[in-house]
Amino acid sequence: MKKGLLNYVTIIIILMIIILNSTTSIYAYNILGNNDKTLDILIINSYDSKNEWENHIITGFEEKLKEIKPKDLSLNIDLEYLDIRKRNDKAYLDSFNDLLNKKYQYKDIDIVFAIDDGAFEFVKSKVLNSQSVLYHKQILFTGVNNPVELTGEYKKYITGILQANTDQLFNLILYLQPNIDTINIIIDEFIYSNVIKKRVESSKSLFFRPVKINFIQSNYIEDIQNKLKKINDKNQAIVLTGTFMYKSNKSHVKLKDIVNDIKTITDNPIYTNNYAYVFNGVIGGFVDIGEHQGSYVAKEICNILEGNKIEEGILPKSSGMYIFDYKQIYDYNIDILKMPKDSKLLNKPKYALLLPKPLKITVCIVFSLLILIVVYVVYKFIIEIKKSNKNKKLYERAKEREQLKTDFIVNMSHELRTPLNVILSTSKVAELKINTNNYDNKYLLGKLEQINKNSNRLLKLVNNLIDITKFEQGVYEINLENINIVEVVEDIVLASVDYATYKNIDLVFDTEEEEIITAIDKDKIERVILNLLSNAIKFTHKGGSIYVYIKRENDKVFISVEDNGMGIPKDKINEIFNRFYQVSDTLKKHEEGSGIGLCIVEEIVDLHGGKINVYSEVNKGSKFEIILPIYMVEENFKNLQIKDIQQIVKLEMSDVDTKEN
Ligand code: ADP
Repeated sequence: MKKGLLNYVTIIIILMIIILNSTTSIYAYNILGNNDKTLDILIINSYDSKNEWENHIITGFEEKLKEIKPKDLSLNIDLEYLDIRKRNDKAYLDSFNDLLNKKYQYKDIDIVFAIDDGAFEFVKSKVLNSQSVLYHKQILFTGVNNPVELTGEYKKYITGILQANTDQLFNLILYLQPNIDTINIIIDEFIYSNVIKKRVESSKSLFFRPVKINFIQSNYIEDIQNKLKKINDKNQAIVLTGTFMYKSNKSHVKLKDIVNDIKTITDNPIYTNNYAYVFNGVIGGFVDIGEHQGSYVAKEICNILEGNKIEEGILPKSSGMYIFDYKQIYDYNIDILKMPKDSKLLNKPKYALLLPKPLKITVCIVFSLLILIVVYVVYKFIIEIKKSNKNKKLYERAKEREQLKTDFIVNMSHELRTPLNVILSTSKVAELKINTNNYDNKYLLGKLEQINKNSNRLLKLVNNLIDITKFEQGVYEINLENINIVEVVEDIVLASVDYATYKNIDLVFDTEEEEIITAIDKDKIERVILNLLSNAIKFTHKGGSIYVYIKRENDKVFISVEDNGMGIPKDKINEIFNRFYQVSDTLKKHEEGSGIGLCIVEEIVDLHGGKINVYSEVNKGSKFEIILPIYMVEENFKNLQIKDIQQIVKLEMSDVDTKEN
């Protein structure tokens, strides 16, 4: 029982395989032998392998067929060139027929694909001829210009696609260029040229306005050029079709060279109905696309393979298309807006505007102007921002200056008031003593000393103010003399020792050299050292120490005044040379000063061609280092004025605290 069921299932499976196999073979019913899994196609090309248009057809045909054919069907495609441009007489055609008969007698051709008029006429003449290998073969054609009439038996075996009508191309030219009154058709002398001529003549009634048609016909480019020389009217257009040879060696002229050769003779616009030309420098036109025609034929073959009957007569397919070369349209000043819808544009740059030239120029100008305006506005905006920032800075500076001035006036008032108060009160006390006949000489001398010191303080202040004004006006002068700077500095330090001693500060002078002769203004350098010393004493705590050191390095002299006082904050170091600047610190509040001493020091050092460095750390101390160049001046520069050093020290130290103000 089980065995019977197994047999039954096996029979069903075998039957199913047979049914499936037979359905997949249905496509081969009409044109393939029962077990034949290869489709044998013979392509007959009217011309030779150099004809680009026909090559486009073959490419389109093969690609489409490979894409849509049943997977288990293999293709065998043979290609023969009838090459009717070389010969087209009966004897030649007979010998071509003999060749096919011999070559393909043992081959079972399934499909014959005839490309263009020559091949079509040949194949048609053989399909009902029992002596030919093409006898009763399935024939497809394309690219045929001649009117095709298929009657009786022919209908059974032949189908195909005609070339597009020429009226669309002519109407296109007449529409795009209303000035055109004559169209020159450049054509060769091969078989299909006469067909084209006939077709143009017959489609004249379809032109939407009358135009003169003129044929320029030759197989040779030189002849075409000569004939073109005769037309130099602007209102004429050219339609280029066909292919040409050089007269000299009968070789094919490349399509690009044909177009270029024509352009050397005439500026008239060149259109075409030949797809291959649109890639070679003509404006474009209404052209048949070879690939399209090839792929239509491939589709029809698959239709037949599926067991359908062939479409009788001509296939109602249009492979025509409007194609233009973007660059040529502008070169020939053609209004791009007039181009038919669905036109294909070749060589169009990615972001190019599809506008007529004048409009394009206007758009470019407007766009450039807009960019310029935007750039200008942005520029103005940036300038305004910069200006306002500058104004802000200027305002901040002015505010700072104002603040400095206010601080200075407050300071100055205090500076002036303190010694004045001391002078007034001291003189009052002295006056009282004298009035009461209390002549304590020592006491009165002490009071006079105080009056003297505070007067000096006032004098120093006024001197500094005068100097500052002189610096500002550029009239400050120095009197140089060749002098031992070591001695100058040492004398000043020694004369200041008392002032340091008052604060219990240890003031030490040290030198590497006993004598360094250089050109300086002695008075001014004394002021510089005294200023640094008075600051050092002022800003060093009681019991501290000050170290003055002088040395020579090459042609420079280094003088440093170093203390272990309260120091200067890092962010203030660059400020202390500014006029009226004082580091505000509660520790320093009680110290006297106007904030102009260092400003004068820097100016004097600068006038000597030197510079001043400051090294300082808060609560550790400060070091002021003056570097002066060593050089000599002529003797007559000498200023022989001799001053009392004690008097000068008194004056400069007048604001240093000595307890008994
Ligand atoms: P001032 O008359 O106030 O001393 P200066 O121009 O001589 O004016 O000095 C400016 C400021 O620099 C001082 O007010 C002080 O704050 C700071 N300074 C100068 N020398 C020293 C120093 N040796 N130690 C600490 N601070 C100093």
